[in-house]
Amino acid sequence: MIPRPRSVRTRLTLWYVGVLGGVLVLFVAGTSAVLFWTLRHQLDRRLREDVETVEGLLRLGPDGTLHVGQEARAGDMRTQRPQELIEVRDAQGAVLYRNEVLGGTPAPDEGVNGYTERSGRLGDGTRIRLVSRRHSVGARALLVRVAHSEEPLWNEFRRVVLVMLLGLPAGLLVAGLGGYALARRALAPVDAMACRAEEITAERLHARLPVENPDDELGHLARVFNDTLARLEGSFEQLRRFTADASHELRTPLTAIRSVGEVGLQQPAGSVDYRDVIGSMLEEAGRLTRLVDSLLTISRADAGRIELHRASTPLLPLAREAAALVEVLADEKGQQLTVEGDEGASAFVDPLIVRQALVNLIDNGIKYTPAGGWIRVCVEARGNESVVEVSDSGAGIAVEEQGKIFERFYRVEQSRSREGGGAGLGLPIVRWAVEAHGGAVEVKSRPGQGSAFRVKLPAGQVCACRTS
Ligand code: ADP
Repeated sequence: MIPRPRSVRTRLTLWYVGVLGGVLVLFVAGTSAVLFWTLRHQLDRRLREDVETVEGLLRLGPDGTLHVGQEARAGDMRTQRPQELIEVRDAQGAVLYRNEVLGGTPAPDEGVNGYTERSGRLGDGTRIRLVSRRHSVGARALLVRVAHSEEPLWNEFRRVVLVMLLGLPAGLLVAGLGGYALARRALAPVDAMACRAEEITAERLHARLPVENPDDELGHLARVFNDTLARLEGSFEQLRRFTADASHELRTPLTAIRSVGEVGLQQPAGSVDYRDVIGSMLEEAGRLTRLVDSLLTISRADAGRIELHRASTPLLPLAREAAALVEVLADEKGQQLTVEGDEGASAFVDPLIVRQALVNLIDNGIKYTPAGGWIRVCVEARGNESVVEVSDSGAGIAVEEQGKIFERFYRVEQSRSREGGGAGLGLPIVRWAVEAHGGAVEVKSRPGQGSAFRVKLPAGQVCACRTS
């Protein structure tokens, strides 16, 4: 098997030269055939004229013998066409007249009427072209034949074909060199891109490929590659930030557990004090557990490993369940937590995941609303969608913060949120949970006037399938 050249340049050039060679060979063959046909056509025309001339010179004597009248004219013809054979035969094929220029001709096998052209060889191998026609002088049927050597025609033909065949490799060589230079030039940006791409590592993701001509195919490739790099860089950056933020958030409760434990151990104390210490440690451990749960949810969601078990779910009972889970916290702060709305509102969702989102929103309402305030959950059916609104009478959120609160680890007031125990992961989980179901979440709030988080979900589907 022929080894495949490694460089695209060489392969392109070989293909180019191969295809061009094929085209040129076809061209040479076609041109030669046309040339040969034209030369022979010219010869045939001349021979036909000569047949007519000879026919005009034929006379029958009174005794029935054949005379070639005006011998001088026939002689002229012979001097003008020294390569020509003139032959007249009778109906039986017997030669009545012949000049001996070309020697013996092939036996006649001509048709009855009109001109007959044929090619043949003489005894010495000379190629000839022979044109003949049946002719009558008086009542005598005759066959007039004129032949000419085809050797000059073949020599001319061979010369032209030889010139073309000698020119062919030279032409191919020039075309090949030109093609190689062109391929090298055209592919030079690919080399440049490959060199630059080799330098790109996880630490140097900011590097980009050179885009020489953004409108051609290579420019397009480089742009697409650069876009991919930009996305990759963004994902790496996000991952880096996530890891750093997560470690930071994990360290805080761990440090608290350690210091509470160390302090507790340093001073000899009674069982009541130890209970306090253990209580504080358990509180921090609970916070740690919630944080790890949130982190797990987020990383599994990112990896697309959370499967949604969607079903048509009544939303009011789901909102009541969510409220019941955090009701105790509202009670502790003396807040009023109410759930109301359309009994018929439903959504085609995974109930566990949507319930978690509602818990996060209600929990935020409780956390960021002062004691004695209220938190209201309102469920509403609106045609194709169902809406759950969680509003509160709390601190509210400044307009410039409202776009950021759905970012991971973002907290409006770090200290305020820390006291409440949030790590800035509650709302990102809400957004993921809602968007995973094809819904949307939006916030309306003003500082000092409370907040309202509105979750829109696709309405529950009633199965209309029928089996027959
Ligand atoms: P956290 O766990 O800190 O509560 P979230 O992602 O749930 O994190 O919320 C992000 C930030 O948005 C919170 O730190 C808080 O400052 C603000 N926020 C969320 N919900 C409310 C609300 N109902 N009222 C006022 N501020 C809120």
